[in-house]
Amino acid sequence: MIRFSSITKAFDARTVLEGVSLDVQSGRITALIGPNGSGKTTLIKVLLGLARPDGGTVSIDGVVTDPDGAYRRHVGYMPQAARFPEHLRVREVFDLVTAMRGAPPRDEELIEAFGLPREWERPVGTLSGGTKQKVNAAIAFLYAPDILVLDEPTAGLDPVAAGILRERMRREQAAGRLVIVTSHVIAELEELAQDIAFLIDGRLEFTGSVADLLARMGAPHVEPAIAQLLKQARAAHALAESPRGADGVPEVA
Ligand code: ADP
Repeated sequence: MIRFSSITKAFDARTVLEGVSLDVQSGRITALIGPNGSGKTTLIKVLLGLARPDGGTVSIDGVVTDPDGAYRRHVGYMPQAARFPEHLRVREVFDLVTAMRGAPPRDEELIEAFGLPREWERPVGTLSGGTKQKVNAAIAFLYAPDILVLDEPTAGLDPVAAGILRERMRREQAAGRLVIVTSHVIAELEELAQDIAFLIDGRLEFTGSVADLLARMGAPHVEPAIAQLLKQARAAHALAESPRGADGVPEVA
């Protein structure tokens, strides 16, 4: 289990995370959602040791993490868009990751499932966005991490590849791993995740199971439930209006 305890973070004078306390369970997929700018990426960066909180701690299985600590070897991270050196061939990207880890890969299933050996000799800069995402995903799973953090993992993937990735996530969950996923596609998260953590303006407005969220909001699906929660929270905190899409639905995730 990952426990975020009273995490606060400010950039300059702007508070981005305001005392976020959240337990994320192993053996479950947790969807981290919230409007743009609500602090999701910052919270993930705190977990990854890429941002230092101003206050609070992160503990994994009861042990408080040291931002430079070895725990990071147990975390697989798929960023929204990986930036690989464009001139490197796909093979060389994997060689680089393997050299940095100093150990042979433990899980090459996605490399095969995504047909990456066919792209092996191509420079990364010539790959389509979807193929880069496949490389990105395969790297996140490469060392069979206990914790997987996937930021918009299926964005840009074709439906077949997205299905392969969702199936892998479910298998990791079934094997007892902890999976955190963000996505703009709420219907996809509803299908995948058992738990939801909903951030609004750096505050955690809901944490619990999908079933709890639906029951609390009396909604049939996650999308209307979080739209309603967002409306209530904004009214309660008298916050500025969030960006809205053309259909008037608050933009989430
Ligand atoms: P989300 O992932 O939910 O869209 P972020 O965590 O990326 O939100 O950002 C939360 C807020 O923090 C935003 O207002 C963003 O502009 C700000 N922010 C994020 N990173 C930095 C940074 N390195 N320096 C200054 N402000 C930042």
